[in-house]
This record gives sequence, structure tokens and C-alpha cells, in this order.
Amino acid sequence: MKAVCWYGANDVRVENVPDPTILNPRDAILKITSATICGSDLHIYDGYIPTMKAGDIIGHEFMGEVVDVGREVKKLKKGDRVVVSSIIGCGQCHYCQQQKWSLCDNSNPNGWINDKLFGFGTAGIFGYSHAFGGYAGAFAEYIRVPFADYGAVKVPEGIPDEKILPISDAFPTGYMGAEMCNISPGDTVAVWGAGPVGLFAMKSAYMLGAERVIAIDRVPERLHMAQEFANAETINYEEISAGDALKEMTGGRGADACIDAVGLEAHGMGLEGFYDEAKQAIRLETDRPHVLREMILACRKGGILSIMGVYAGFVDKIPMGAAMNKALTWKMGQMFGQKYMPMLVDRVLNNEVDPSLVFSHRLPLEEAKQGFELFKHKKDNCVKVLLKP
Ligand code: NAD
Ligand code: ZN
Repeated sequence: MKAVCWYGANDVRVENVPDPTILNPRDAILKITSATICGSDLHIYDGYIPTMKAGDIIGHEFMGEVVDVGREVKKLKKGDRVVVSSIIGCGQCHYCQQQKWSLCDNSNPNGWINDKLFGFGTAGIFGYSHAFGGYAGAFAEYIRVPFADYGAVKVPEGIPDEKILPISDAFPTGYMGAEMCNISPGDTVAVWGAGPVGLFAMKSAYMLGAERVIAIDRVPERLHMAQEFANAETINYEEISAGDALKEMTGGRGADACIDAVGLEAHGMGLEGFYDEAKQAIRLETDRPHVLREMILACRKGGILSIMGVYAGFVDKIPMGAAMNKALTWKMGQMFGQKYMPMLVDRVLNNEVDPSLVFSHRLPLEEAKQGFELFKHKKDNCVKVLLKP
């Protein structure tokens, strides 16, 4: 089959690789009908995930059709149309039972790799390097889905892929970011990053009862999307200090909750080069956590910081005194996809939200490299790229 393989920073190639097969009785094999590039893939594309190996198949946000199931798969059969969580969970362990799917004890046999970079024993993720289980990714024609009964959610026919696909990752991530804000009526939620994750966080904040949502980014088209798609007020941080603007907009009080939908801030932020070979093996270090710093300063006393942007390694220069004295609550994590996906599918089927609006580009799988370039540099008003095998 054809698949997109990673060979190094900014180097992805479409190659012929062997088809996946059932390795475990709880696996399913999917024929992928649509996949999409996530902000997390950019961390790989930028070369910031040192546990990648040359030739690894990347991609983790996808949907498709079941073409084969292992003998212990109970809920799925050949021909089912499904959207799959990017995070792999066994469904049985202590954490999965509590719906904390990204903390699964059993889906990542390599959880000991690079403990300092990524934390010990967290869940497997499709196409996300050997520290996350070394699973083959979704920018391919077929994929093996482990623990398929838990990760794959059935979708009826008759609704286009585009409306469902973000439920694999970006939508539940945004939803979890908003849910972690413990929103009360009247709350103002500020969201850093108006990419797909941020846009879904904004939309979800309203779904969960926020009174105001304020988006912070620097890309005009994305801020425009924040207004159109999520009805958010906007701040362009290249024109005005986000902290000052937020203070002003909230009568000096600050936002009740702040969501980080940016993360590493590597791409396009001039960080290229801070990360040299010697540091790779043990740590990733940056003194530019702009977003975390701004969130601490812009959050009201007693407020909540909800961090969905992905970090790795060591992040420095955080105003810990302000965070401590303001009694801020910090919440963060890789998303608990399976917890939210069935509910989000229902909401889309009920026409409460149309996730397809975030797609700006549709490309054949063969043009994945071009998709990465568009998405990385936010060229041609790129918000999210759909890849069609
Ligand atoms: P994206 O690259 O499309 O969006 C990031 C946005 O942040 C861009 O619009 C960029 O202009 C903006 N930005 C950069 N620096 C900023 C700053 N200082 N202040 C405000 N905005 C800034 O990516 P995405 O797909 O929306 O993903 C966003 C983040 O979420 C990534 O870090 C990704 O890894 C992470 N993510 C986390 C999970 C999870 O489970 N926690 C899942 C998916 C994605
Ligand atoms: Zn588990």
C-alpha cells in the first residue's frame, strides 16, 4: 500500500510499504477513507520528536471502513464505517475504566522510552513515534487499529467524512480543553491559538455555557474563522499585547479560564535551531513558553489554565510566583478521546455543529508533503488539510 513515511525534519515521502495485518485478536484493519494533518504532526514534521525513526508512517487523525477484524473484536464487523481515536486505550485498565484514555496502562509497550521528555507509561498514539508505542500511522491506505472495540466509533452512512473526521482528534481535544475549564454561566474563556484545536475549544466553550469566548492568534484568516465558526471575539497578538487587551476586555479582572491550543510554538516562531542533536537524547528545552506565561498573567485570581497544546521536555521561565499567589488551577493532558467521541458524533448528526468548516484544503495522499508545507506555514489561508488515500 501507499503510505507517508517520515525521514527527518521537513522530509516526508510517499512510499510503498507492506499492508498491515491482524497481530492481536482485538485488532481491526481499516481501509482509510480520510485522514487529516494535526498540529501535533507538525511537531514531528519540524523534527522535535526525537523518538521517531526513519521510515515511520505518520498520521493519527482518521476514519475509514473496517475490512478485517480479529476473533475477539465484538462490536465491529467488516463493512462498518468508523471514526477512530488518535489515542489508543485498552478499555480495561484502571485509567481507561475512569475514561482517562490517554493514560492507558496497556497500549504503549514503549512507555519507558524518554521518560523525561514525555512522562512514563502514557498511552499509545497512532503514528507518533516509538515513545508512544511505535504504531504505524494513518497517512496510508490501510491501518491496524489495536483495541478496536474501544477506539473505533461507528458512524452511519449518508454523512460526509469531512463532518466526522475531526472527531478523531481535534474536536474531542478542544472539547476536553473547554470541559477542563469548569465553565459557569457568565464565564469568559480565552483561547490561545485559532487552529483547529483552538476553534473546537472555542465552539465547545459555548456548548458548555460560556458567556464570552476570546480568541488569540496572529493569522488574520484564522481569527476570522474564530469569529465565523465559533462566534469568538478576537485579539491579534501581533497588533496588541494579548495580556493588555484581555485585561481591558474583562474590566481589569482577567479571563475566568485560559486554554492553551498552541503548545510547543515551534513552527514559524523562530525556534528552529534551539534544538540541537546533543539535547535530543535527554531533553527539549525552550525559554519561550509565551503562551503559558501569558495565560498565567491574564487569568483572573483563582482561575483555571487548561493546556491542550502539546509540550515535550523542559519548559522554563514560567512566572510561578504569579501562578501560586493567584491560586490558579492547572489542568492538562493528551485528550481522552473515547470519553467524548460518541457524544460528539451525536451532536454532529443533530446538526449542532459542522466540523467540516475547518477544512481549507483537500489533497490526495500523494501530495501530503505539500499539505504539510501549507499547514506548517499557514500558507494560502490554510486551516486544516484533508488527505484522501
Ligand atoms: P495549528 O498549528 O493549526 O494551530 C496553532 C495556532 O497557534 C496557529 O494558528 C498559530 O498561529 C497559533 N499561535 C502560535 N503561537 C501563538 C501564540 N504565542 N499565541 C497565540 N497563538 C499562537 O495546530 P492545531 O492542530 O490547532 O493544534 C494545536 C496544538 O494542540 C498543537 O500543539 C497540537 O500538538 C496540540 N494537540 C493536542 C492534543 C491533545 O490531545 N492534547 C491533540 C491534538 C493536538
Ligand atoms: Zn487502558
